[in-house]
Amino acid sequence: MHIEKQISSYYDMLLKRNAGEPEFHQALSEVLDSLKIVLNKDPHYADYGLVERLCEPERQLIFRVPWTDDRGNVCVNRGFRVQFNSALGPYKGGLRFHPSVNLGIIKFLGFEQIFKNSLTGLPIGGGKGGSDFDPKGKSDAEIMRFCQSFMTELHRYIGEYQDVPAGDIGVGGREIGYLFGQFRRLENRHESGVLTGKGLSWGGSLVRTEATGYGLVYLTAEMMKTHGESFNGAKVIVSGSGNVAIYAAEKVQQLGGTVVAMSDSAGYVETPNGVDIELLKDVKEARRERISVYAQEAGVKYYEGGNIWATPADVALPCATQNELDVDAARLLAENGVRYVAEGANMPCTAEAAHFFVGSQVKFAPGKAANAGGVATSALEMQQNASRDSWSFDYTDKRLHEIMSNIFKNIDRTAREYDMEGDYVAGANIAGFKKVADAMLAQGVV
Ligand code: NDP
Repeated sequence: MHIEKQISSYYDMLLKRNAGEPEFHQALSEVLDSLKIVLNKDPHYADYGLVERLCEPERQLIFRVPWTDDRGNVCVNRGFRVQFNSALGPYKGGLRFHPSVNLGIIKFLGFEQIFKNSLTGLPIGGGKGGSDFDPKGKSDAEIMRFCQSFMTELHRYIGEYQDVPAGDIGVGGREIGYLFGQFRRLENRHESGVLTGKGLSWGGSLVRTEATGYGLVYLTAEMMKTHGESFNGAKVIVSGSGNVAIYAAEKVQQLGGTVVAMSDSAGYVETPNGVDIELLKDVKEARRERISVYAQEAGVKYYEGGNIWATPADVALPCATQNELDVDAARLLAENGVRYVAEGANMPCTAEAAHFFVGSQVKFAPGKAANAGGVATSALEMQQNASRDSWSFDYTDKRLHEIMSNIFKNIDRTAREYDMEGDYVAGANIAGFKKVADAMLAQGVV
C-alpha cells in the first residue's frame, strides 16, 4: 500500500481505538506526519507492525486513590500510569497532579516521552502518569495522605529496572518525598533509583530542579547561534511561573536576556525591566503564591486573564501547559517580531500554531527536543544512584548543556538529511523515532 494511504489508515484506526482523547490524537497526528517522510525513504520501518506497536502503550494502569481530607471526608481520585515503550530502557516520565488529568492526556504525554527520551541519547523508555487530584489549596497533611494512597497502588508496578516516575505539573520535591517515603515503607527497601527529583540528602541530583528550564534555554541558545543570534540583549516571553518557567527565566537573564512577561492560569505580568528571580522564587516556591502577588511586591503591571502573547519580544518560551498558544497567538507573536519559539511545556502550541511556525520565518523547537533537559538530568540522577555517587553542580550542568547542544545538532542534521532543513519538528520526530524503531525491530514482535 502507498505510504500516505497506509499512514492515514493507521491514523483512522487509532482514532477509533482511542476515541475521545483529542490530545493523544494531536500528538499521534504530528508524529505520523513526520513518519511519512521516513517510511518513504526507509520502508522497512513499516515492517513487523512497527508503527501500530509504537502507537499502542505496552501497559495502561488506572486505579482508585481514596484518601481522607483534614475534615475527615473521604475523597476518591483516579490514578494513572501509562507504560508506553521500554525498548530503550525502563519506562521514564513524570507524574502530573491536576484536575484536568485523564487517560488521553497521560497517553499523549507518554507517547511524546518516548521520542524525547530517545533524543537524550540515554537508556530510558517512555511513560507518564498522574491523577485528577488538585493539589491547589490542600494542606501539607492532605498532600501527604494523597501521595501515600497513590503510591500504595503504584508501588507494585515501578522499580529502578522497570519504571521510574518523576515530577510534572503539581508534583515537585515535596510530593516526590512523600511518594518515596511510602514506597520505601511498602517495599522495605531504600531503592533510590525508583523515583527521580529526590531531595539531595537521599539520592537526588544537583541541577534536577533547574534542568528543564536551563536545558530549554541551552537548546534555544544553540538554535539562535545557528542563525547568528544569542540571548544577549533579547526580550523573552516566558509563560507559566512553575518549575520550568522559573528556571528558564533565570537562565535567560544569566545569559543577558530580559524576561518581559510571565504568567499563571489566572493572568500575566509585564516586566519590561526583567524579572526579579529571587523574589519570584520566594513567592512561587517558598510561599506557593500566585503571580499576582509577585506583581504587587515587585511593583509591576498585572493583567487578570489577558494575552501574554501580545507582549512584543524576540523569543517566546511557552512553559505552562498544553495548547496554551493557538494560531492567533502565533501570528501575533510573529507580527510583533518574535523570531524564535521553543516549547518548555509539553505541546503548548496547538497543531495549527506549530504548523504556522514551521511554515514561517520563526524558528520553532518542539517540546520533545526543547524540554528534554528534565528527563535527561533525571537519567543522570539514575546514573548517580546506580554508582552511589553524587556529582557537583558544575559537572552535572555541563553534562546537561552538552546533551541539549547535541539534541539540537541531531534534530538539525536529521532535518537536513531528509531535505527538511530548518524543520525541527520533523527533525525531532524522525531522530527520536529511528532510535526506538531500530531497537524495536532488533527485539522482535513483543
Ligand atoms: P508546575 O506545576 O510547576 O507549573 C505549571 C505552571 O503553568 C504554573 O505556573 C501554572 O499556573 C501554569 N499554568 C497552568 N495552566 C495554565 C494556563 N492555562 N495558562 C497559563 N498558565 C498556566 O509545572 P512544571 O513547570 O513542572 O510543568 C510545566 C510544563 O512543562 C508542563 O507541560 C510539563 O509537562 C512540562 N515539563 C515539565 C518538566 C519538569 O521537569 N517539571 C519536564 C518536561 C516538561 P497555576 O499555578 O495558575 O496553575
